[in-house]
Amino acid sequence: MTKDFIFKEINNLKGVGTQLSKYLKKKKIEKIKDIILNLPYSEIDRSKVYKLNELEIGKIQSIKVLVKKLNFPRIRNLPNKITCEDEHGKIDIVYFNSREGYLRKLFPINEWIIVSGKINFFNKKYQITNPDYVTTIENQDYVTQNIPKYNLTKGINEKKYRSISEQVIKQLPAVDDWLDKVFIKENNLINWNEAIHNLHNSKEAKDIQSKSYRRIVFDELCANFLVLSENRKRIKKEKLPKQFSDKHSKLIIDNLPFKLTNSQKDVLLEINFELLSNKRMFRIIQGDVGSGKTIVSLLAIINVIKSGYQCALMSPTEILAKQHFELSKKIFKDSNIKIDFLTGKTEYKNRKNILSNLKNGSIDLLIGTHALFQKKINFKRLGLIIIDEQHKFGVKQRSDLALKGGNNCDVLVMSATPIPRTMMMSLYGDMDISKINEKPSKRKKIITLSKPEKKINELWPYIKRQINNKNQIFWVCPLIEESKFMDYSSAKKKYELINKKFPNKVGIIHGALDKEEKEKILYKFLNKEILILVSTTVIEVGIDFPNANLIIIENANKFGLAQLHQLRGRVGRGENQGTCILLFKDGLSKKAIKRIKILKESDDGFFIAEEDLKLRGFGDLIGYQQSGIKNFRFADPVNHEDLFKLAEKYVKNVQDNINQKKYLFLLKLFDKAEIINIK
Ligand code: ADP
Ligand code: MG
Repeated sequence: MTKDFIFKEINNLKGVGTQLSKYLKKKKIEKIKDIILNLPYSEIDRSKVYKLNELEIGKIQSIKVLVKKLNFPRIRNLPNKITCEDEHGKIDIVYFNSREGYLRKLFPINEWIIVSGKINFFNKKYQITNPDYVTTIENQDYVTQNIPKYNLTKGINEKKYRSISEQVIKQLPAVDDWLDKVFIKENNLINWNEAIHNLHNSKEAKDIQSKSYRRIVFDELCANFLVLSENRKRIKKEKLPKQFSDKHSKLIIDNLPFKLTNSQKDVLLEINFELLSNKRMFRIIQGDVGSGKTIVSLLAIINVIKSGYQCALMSPTEILAKQHFELSKKIFKDSNIKIDFLTGKTEYKNRKNILSNLKNGSIDLLIGTHALFQKKINFKRLGLIIIDEQHKFGVKQRSDLALKGGNNCDVLVMSATPIPRTMMMSLYGDMDISKINEKPSKRKKIITLSKPEKKINELWPYIKRQINNKNQIFWVCPLIEESKFMDYSSAKKKYELINKKFPNKVGIIHGALDKEEKEKILYKFLNKEILILVSTTVIEVGIDFPNANLIIIENANKFGLAQLHQLRGRVGRGENQGTCILLFKDGLSKKAIKRIKILKESDDGFFIAEEDLKLRGFGDLIGYQQSGIKNFRFADPVNHEDLFKLAEKYVKNVQDNINQKKYLFLLKLFDKAEIINIK
């Protein structure tokens, strides 16, 4: 058996045909290595052999019985039944849809056999329906033991999967460990082969702090960080430095109706320094909602344009792109530059014009959606790509984008989702980070209140006053993760209720609407044609609704802290005081009270994200879920924080070429090789 065995398709295994492959694929088990990484989540104890007077209904038990009678009714839908006994009682073994010949072999009359399965009671008799194991006495040991329990789907039973996984784990080729012995020892890890054996044959898979589990976590993290580090190496190459003075940006800054915060100034310095340098910029600005990232990006843009290059600014939605377009026209009105706007909806003739103007260099700044980076679009001299609210991008997309920009193009990304450090390192470890951690001083802190849903009636007069003052309101409806339909119906009910109270002033947005319909309603809200917006989904990140001052969030329990913080960031963006009311279903749990307390006391997105991580764990964090980037399978930033740091340090010190065999093994193991196009 060679090492390559691990990366072969599962149908190379004995007993895995097309049908089974199909079922396994549903579980994302396609290659043999996927079986290796599919860890048991528990064990089933079949070790003890019970007498028939020791049976417990509902429990999985093993028994040793004598086969007495086989019964194959010729009537459809009646099950086949085998009656067995021991010195203490009787039991029926029942099969639906099993062939007679097969069962006669399995249950030889007057012989003792071992049966293991879940004990039922039917018609005053014990029975086991479709037992997991039936075997001879000689073969008893194979069944009567602790058997690892795997997550299985329909079409694969325990016995079948066990035979496959044993085939793999028992035959596992000795892999020369990609980590050296000294490192393993020093860091209290364990050899790879040993770890895999332990994980499948002991309780270590269940203990996320066991040596074996930690070993696999470390591997997973290194695979992840190696990809990021390779991506960085490829992007951060030499480029022609941009050439500009600060006179153009100064002019704009002087005309702003506000003063830049120190944080904004610092980040701008960092960016300019890099634009002027001879290394490509590959940077992310992290700043809470409303921290003023847009103006920073526009100031970078003017520098690059005045340096003789074109810029592209991309947003995830049309409405957000439009806002940026309008803002740019205003900000750059005296700068003498040509700005244009392109989305998927731009009509043919206009689009054709834009395309040719990009190519001949007469457009300086192009603002739009994903449409900016379609194949046919070619810039004459693209010098800077900016992506706003980019958390929907993975490493691969980032790297494609940088490629598209060419060797002299800097890349700047803006994210409004503050995330904990461990997550930052795993998502954006290939980029340099600038943080805006200060909010414009004028802005008032949003008032956060909580209320039981039962008392919702107390709110109506307050809401009425808001409406009369022409303030706008977001109303976020219960998020019921299990069902889009339920989300929809509950939002609709709420919409009808509110619409009755405030006719013609309410709009609704829900998951069943397509992007265009959603944008239409958002425009209506923006233009104040409606004053209350009921929604199920998270309201589009980044759009400025300066007139929205109140957000009501129902069933606030269902949201993570970071998510609630994001949501309340939708209001209070203008001059007026913003208010966020959290509605809770029943009495507040201790945890809920703690969560509200954190929200009330802090408006620092980074702090809240860290707290959220502690309270809810990795998987639930907003931005991460939305990113579409696969979650870690094994690593957990709360419980394995030390390994995150260790892996980061390890990868930093890797000087070898990533194409080396040992890294390839690791990258392929965690499906990372394709991301950076290596085989
Ligand atoms: P975000 O970081 O969420 O993208 P924006 O760039 O949209 O935030 O800025 C939010 C609002 O704050 C905008 O209306 C913007 O004009 C305003 N703003 C930006 N910087 C400042 C500042 N230094 N002082 C006051 N208001 C500012
Ligand atoms: Mg923004």
